[in-house]
Amino acid sequence: MDYLPVFLKIENRPCLVVGGGKVAARKIALLNRAGARITVVSPSICEEVKSLVTEGAITFAEREFRESDLDDMVLVIAATDNEAVNRSVSELANQHRIPVNVVDSPDLCSFIMPSIIDRSPVQVAVSTGGASPVLARLLRARLESFIPAAYGRLAQLVDEFRNHVKQQFSDTEQRRYFWENVLQGRVAELLFAGHEDKARTALQEAIDDADAHFKNQGEVYLVGAGPGDPDLITFRALRLMQQADVVVYDRLVSEPILDMVRRDAELIYAGKARDKHTLTQENINQLLVRLAKEGKRVLRLKGGDPFIFGRGGEEIQTLAEEGIPFQVVPGITAASGCASYAGIPLTHRDYAQSCIFVTGHLKDGSVDLDWDNLAKPAQTIVFYMGLHSISAISKELISHGMPKDTPVALVQQGTTRNQRVYIETLESLPDLPEREQIKPPTIIIVGEVVSLQEKLSWFGMEE
Ligand code: SAH
Repeated sequence: MDYLPVFLKIENRPCLVVGGGKVAARKIALLNRAGARITVVSPSICEEVKSLVTEGAITFAEREFRESDLDDMVLVIAATDNEAVNRSVSELANQHRIPVNVVDSPDLCSFIMPSIIDRSPVQVAVSTGGASPVLARLLRARLESFIPAAYGRLAQLVDEFRNHVKQQFSDTEQRRYFWENVLQGRVAELLFAGHEDKARTALQEAIDDADAHFKNQGEVYLVGAGPGDPDLITFRALRLMQQADVVVYDRLVSEPILDMVRRDAELIYAGKARDKHTLTQENINQLLVRLAKEGKRVLRLKGGDPFIFGRGGEEIQTLAEEGIPFQVVPGITAASGCASYAGIPLTHRDYAQSCIFVTGHLKDGSVDLDWDNLAKPAQTIVFYMGLHSISAISKELISHGMPKDTPVALVQQGTTRNQRVYIETLESLPDLPEREQIKPPTIIIVGEVVSLQEKLSWFGMEE
């Protein structure tokens, strides 16, 4: 983190703007909105600034900047077109320990200005650390479009009832539950639909009726986090990630995805590298039960889809037996994530009419599969956990009748920035791991569809 984001209170405090052109005018308008007492120093000013001076909204000194202008200032912005002046404002402000921003010169700034989405009192500030203001603006435009305009009003309503709710629920946990329900439920929907009075009444009712609703009831969300790229998680997964109290996650859940979990949620690593089970499956099942019984909202976060080679079924079976409420959120499974990001359609009218997902790792360490059924023409086979059985896979498929030159793709760390795709044949496959120092996780895709990769590959192509 190169900068610390903060929201500065400058209402009624003296701020200095050096420069009086159009760029300065924009900054002045912003300071004005935050209620600052603004002084502008500049030999000349544009019409916009002039009218603010006439209104008496700002103080204006019609001359060059000098050091004494900094006296008592809590914030300085330099927006002149003279680089030497900008530099000198920056240096002097730094000497006086006054936060300074020089427009379009991140090197001269002790603070930078974000792009802002203003739903006061709700504000979202976007920064690229000065790297690309255009990128920040594009991001801002996207955020603008999905943060309802009424968010400000919703925040005001919350503020109105805050003390009341505090008296009603002394327990902070319960209070959070209450507000989360209100902000995602009927009250918010009424407000967004323009029924402010009804929203207020509904909120009052929810407070009065609270006891009935907010018994501490734990639950478990079994959520698929997809194969790695955080853009591939579902909206529902994201929402639950942001309201969980505790997160039990697997090795396959990528770092950027964990970063999207609510900041103060407790994180528990459940492990599971091959043959190095950090927690046994039985222990994980029991852990979920215990946490839910403590009244927590437990997010069980798994790579890919929880119901595909994810033991999700076993985990919720235990929950069901214990009568603990749960929900399951599907994720993009490795086969479909990796195939898409490698440019390999899993089915294709000309090459494959069926696709089969199998595990290459069996409980007793052997690969005891129905090879006759796998080695069929016009079928794509995707092996999960197949790296350690790669020789057996090649040998068995060939001996069950598949041509030696059948194309095979091995996708390593698919959908992530470290994705690598290796194209082999059944015959050349066995020595690939050693030749290329392959690292897990990997999936192996076998079938004629793999030949399309050459034309259809699109992800991470710059190398
Ligand atoms: N539930 C998961 C699969 C868990 S089994 C899912 O639906 O994807 C673990 C196996 O998934 C790994 O051994 C590997 O074969 C595969 N896998 C998971 N993520 C992967 C990735 N990003 N790239 C390649 N293979 C992956």
